[in-house]
Amino acid sequence: MNKNFDLERLVRPNVLQMKPYSSARDEYKTDGRKMTFLDANENPFENGVNRYPDPQQGKVKQVLASQKGVSETKILLGNGSDEVLDLIYRAFCRPQVDNVITLPPTYGMYKVLAGLNEVEDREVVLKSNFQPDVEAILAEVNEQTKIIFLCSPNNPTGNSFSEASVEKILKDFSGLVVIDEAYIDFSAENSWLERLEEFPNLVITQTLSKAYGMAGIRLGICYASEEIIAVLNKIKPPYNVNELTQQRALERLSKPEEVNREVQLILEERDLLAANLSKMAFVKEIFPSDANFLLARVENAGEKYEQLIKAGVVVRNRSNQQLCENTLRFTVGTPTENQELLKKLKELEA
Ligand code: PMP
Repeated sequence: MNKNFDLERLVRPNVLQMKPYSSARDEYKTDGRKMTFLDANENPFENGVNRYPDPQQGKVKQVLASQKGVSETKILLGNGSDEVLDLIYRAFCRPQVDNVITLPPTYGMYKVLAGLNEVEDREVVLKSNFQPDVEAILAEVNEQTKIIFLCSPNNPTGNSFSEASVEKILKDFSGLVVIDEAYIDFSAENSWLERLEEFPNLVITQTLSKAYGMAGIRLGICYASEEIIAVLNKIKPPYNVNELTQQRALERLSKPEEVNREVQLILEERDLLAANLSKMAFVKEIFPSDANFLLARVENAGEKYEQLIKAGVVVRNRSNQQLCENTLRFTVGTPTENQELLKKLKELEA
């Protein structure tokens, strides 16, 4: 248990004092009666989307709550997890005063959002095995450190952070620890969601963009204590998750077996792709992955990247990130797409 945790100290004072915008649909409760809605200045003629969506996304939260075994009051949904990350920054970090700690090489939005919000980004590079340097991280903490961002499994390295490292950070740091679990459904490791009750400073983000195959609808999920979720709810745009997104998310969440089947296939393809890539002369090392992509150290990453573009295949060149010199990141595609990638790479080697 983190004894020094004091949420009021962490929240920006202006946010603490704010009253949230109260939307038309927040201000009444029905007892299931059919109501006539003349409150929100909508066009009354039905077309399926003429009404504002549920601002609290009750149905989606209900399904997530029952599938994940967590109370609805501990869930906040956003327009992608990028919106969730943005809300977290704006709720807790005072511009030009506070700082956050990020662990490069990692997901680029933590730094972009730090820049946007004029928050110092104290970078503590991962160790050479891509694990967090816990001592160095804790040494960077000062009174103004509000958040430590841990991405596990990490993008672009693909590995999960060791349980002991994450646990130590959660226990020894009295600010928020955001664990970005965008890729958790591809991982053999357990989600930190199972331990949400243990740590009042734990914030977990997940998304429907990866394993759930719904990057196009933009649905991000935040799990945290009821108190942290209440702070984020105060500042979120009233109708931040649109009606079509809520509908499509509900449909997909009702078919978990379909998602599982696709995840299994992606995992099999990941192993096959790793085995085939590692046989190629230009590939020096394939890093172990808990995600739906492979990071590979190669010869002349820049040249290979350009050659692949010419051949009609887009991969990600991660070479300019720390510890990632000469690396390419390959997202696992369909069996056909992966075959095509391997075929083109062989042609380039010939
Ligand atoms: N976190 C990580 C680690 C990611 O890689 C990504 C997207 N590439 C995101 C968050 C953003 O996800 P979303 O589509 O939910 O905004």
